[in-house]
Amino acid sequence: MSKFINNNLKELEEYTPGEQPQNISEYIKLNTNENPFPPSDRLKKIVTEEAINNLRLYPDPNCKELVDTIAKVYNVDKKNILIGNGSDEILGLAFLGFGEDGAIYPKLSYGFYTVFADLYGIRKKEIPLKRDYYIDIDDYNGKSGMVVIANPNAPTGLELSKEEVEELLEQDPNRIVIIDEAYVDFGGKSSIELTKKHNNLLVVCTFSKSRNLAGARVGFAIGNEEIIKDLNKLKFSFNPYNLNRISSLFAKEALLDKEYFEKCSGIIMENRYYLTESLRDLGFKINDSVANFIFAKCPDSIGGEEYYKYLKKNKVLVRYFPNIDLKDHVRITVGTKYEIDRLLEETKKMLLKIS
Ligand SMILES: *Cc1c(COP(=O)(O)O)cnc(C)c1O
Repeated sequence: MSKFINNNLKELEEYTPGEQPQNISEYIKLNTNENPFPPSDRLKKIVTEEAINNLRLYPDPNCKELVDTIAKVYNVDKKNILIGNGSDEILGLAFLGFGEDGAIYPKLSYGFYTVFADLYGIRKKEIPLKRDYYIDIDDYNGKSGMVVIANPNAPTGLELSKEEVEELLEQDPNRIVIIDEAYVDFGGKSSIELTKKHNNLLVVCTFSKSRNLAGARVGFAIGNEEIIKDLNKLKFSFNPYNLNRISSLFAKEALLDKEYFEKCSGIIMENRYYLTESLRDLGFKINDSVANFIFAKCPDSIGGEEYYKYLKKNKVLVRYFPNIDLKDHVRITVGTKYEIDRLLEETKKMLLKIS
């Protein structure tokens, strides 16, 4: 730490991203919920000489082309859409803009919520999950502040029903509710339609998971016009050109390739079933996930850290959370059939060694 950093930031604990090893091709990478399939083939025609020449120009700060495409695909009005450099940026703007009465979110959820709250000095109201990691929306009733829910939740892979989201919105129309739908496209139910009826809802989405574009950094949010205006004001006060020209084109093409999107999501959902059932057969305890990852409790004979380390030594990466109360759990991204079989093979070897 330098002697120049602000006092209020000295204690800040930053977000720890999942490992991204340099020698990536050596690993079966099931630790950061990326899509195992490459982006749509349509992206290959984008990096033309003209597109490269155009990089001398700033991008459109309003991201008009992408906004128009999202408006069509999701059947919402343009004025209800905000574009972000990944959905993390949008979440960051939302915490900055709407967090003064505190942030209310499940104690076990996306780690970035705590980091944003700490970064902006926002009071945290972390709500413990119920048995089997379920979110009980009654626990949110009567609490003031900004509600943030990943739906489906991470790392649990469980979702709130549409009725539960609606009830959360109706508990207090003067409280903003942010629904983070990073994983909604793998069998979950989106709340985007509810933005037309509820002025206190912001739905945050990403191209990183179901659109195979984690490396391009594109996210978007849908909500009431006034909320979007507020967020745009913050964006234009911080980084007006937040989306680069190439990523903007990539995102548009990915969005238009509906067929490929549905194909990838379909395979991932099938593979999720295969992964879940196979690990259950080996003694793991797993709730049925609606995301592109599963949250697995290891058999009594092995701890989560031990399992994670064994897999890593054998070139399979999964996510282990050392700092939370879940030392017997790992989160495993649903990969290709081949990747899952490699994980299962190593898991069986480890269990054999132990017995
Ligand atoms: C991956 C993820 C995001 C962030 O996605 P980016 O768009 O890549 O910034 C947001 N929320 C949750 C719950 C995620 O898992």
